[in-house]
Amino acid sequence: IGANLARTVELFGEREALVDVRGGRRWTYAEFGRAVEEVALGLLAKGVAQGDRVGIWAVNCPEWVMVQYATARIGAVMVNINPAYRVHELAYVLRQSGISVLVSAVEYKTSDYRRMVEQVRGECPALRDVVYLGDPTWTGLVRLGAGTPRERLAEREAKLRPTDPVNIQYTSGTTGFPKGATLTHRNILNNAFSVGELLGYTEEDRIALPVPFYHCFGMVMGNLAATSHGSCVVIPARTFDPTATLHAVERERCTSLYGVPTMFIAELDLPDFATYDLSTLRTGIMAGSPCPADVMKRVVAEMHMEEVAICYGMTETSPVSTQTRRDDDLDRRTGTVGRVLPHIEIKVVDPDTGATVPRGRTGELCTRGYSVMLGYWDEPERTAEAIDADRWMHTGDLAVMDEDGYVRIVGRSKDMIIRGGENVYPREIEEFLHTHPKIADVQVIGVPDERMGEEIMACVILRDPGEPLTRDELARYCRGRLAHYKVPCYLRIMETFPMTVSGKVRKVQLREEAVALVG
Ligand code: ATP
Ligand code: MG
Repeated sequence: IGANLARTVELFGEREALVDVRGGRRWTYAEFGRAVEEVALGLLAKGVAQGDRVGIWAVNCPEWVMVQYATARIGAVMVNINPAYRVHELAYVLRQSGISVLVSAVEYKTSDYRRMVEQVRGECPALRDVVYLGDPTWTGLVRLGAGTPRERLAEREAKLRPTDPVNIQYTSGTTGFPKGATLTHRNILNNAFSVGELLGYTEEDRIALPVPFYHCFGMVMGNLAATSHGSCVVIPARTFDPTATLHAVERERCTSLYGVPTMFIAELDLPDFATYDLSTLRTGIMAGSPCPADVMKRVVAEMHMEEVAICYGMTETSPVSTQTRRDDDLDRRTGTVGRVLPHIEIKVVDPDTGATVPRGRTGELCTRGYSVMLGYWDEPERTAEAIDADRWMHTGDLAVMDEDGYVRIVGRSKDMIIRGGENVYPREIEEFLHTHPKIADVQVIGVPDERMGEEIMACVILRDPGEPLTRDELARYCRGRLAHYKVPCYLRIMETFPMTVSGKVRKVQLREEAVALVG
């Protein structure tokens, strides 16, 4: 990764690398390269050895990106820590990955990061140094770096190998407690480059990133894809804000925009959406969770993102395994997650027998290739459950592959509802309910039911809270268009869904709440 960045700096030194809209700061690649070098040298001078874990705990900011590349350059393993964590989760991650140096924000909104760090410091024997962003400890680190001979960096870099671990990236925690995926330079750089190449990135591209850096969507598909093609990263705000995002696209003339589906929905539904000039947009990525075809079509038509792609993947696979291509027809670009990336293999298997199912049939998606992680950090049993003896990663996602290799994600095996013996995929019902004019967003879950085993609940966010939706109305809408056993029995109207920081709906929590409501 260090060598790749050096090449970009050499080729595109005068072009912009990074823009922080919120803080009003910008860096060319030459400036960014120097900033990274100072942080890298500072960490070296602090005694960070090859393979040492360096944590980063902050919302999106330019220093986050500098730490990302600085740690890669010195062969340290950067651990991304979810900015939504609280004390006990922080302590868990610090101890689980054995972080010796932590770079942390001081505070953000209601999060007093410094107080939490100081609270757990005593319980983390490996943690010997904490650097706070925007505080004298950070400026001290940079000054230390500026005074350290560059030869020390060259010496270290000569020892690094592409197959060394570079990150421990914790998964989103959508289905349970997050797992630390250990990824190498080779894993994530190849994946990032590939994703950018399929989007046609060049040094002309400017990518608006409202997605969190702590997650692979931001740090690999965003930052690393950008630097490996000489494109520019634009940070609209510290955390997702739909207005700040569209404002950044307009002001910075962005050509690409990323988001999970809920982010795009929030942007499209802004009352003043039509007043933003989004004409510079050409492409972007929707990913992270099921991407409703309806929302994709609106993005293509209303945001000028004619070449927008859907990516499918998971933290454990660097992350992307499949992606739609610019020349796919519109139905495939909005209704599938595309085809497998170059140099990766995928197959769809029967979860019980492990045999590959015929095309057109549902099974568990498996991935193999350069993109599969080394394993979960310090968790050999969980690694062995996920990666089999032939190095296939079992994703836990249910998928269908058609004759031409296009994949549809049907849902997660953990989310599948079994109602009266019939397999019901929430995804299909959500996709259908998205077409209802009163529904802005919807999540479908299974709740325990004595007679049917499970019953179906639709959790709905209304477009206009002044225009209510009743259960009967919903049932009428479904009748004749959805098989009777898929029609939701319960309707819950909500204002927001419980979300992970990476922007995914926490269905586990929705289910827990539903059990309490129904029970
Ligand atoms: P955890 O593993 O901690 O429960 P997580 O699986 O949500 O959380 P990530 O690695 O961020 O953590 O997300 C990967 C998952 O996101 C995939 O396994 C898949 O279920 C879902 N996903 C990603 N992209 C898509 C997509 N385009 N369509 C449907 N689902 C997607
Ligand atoms: Mg997962």
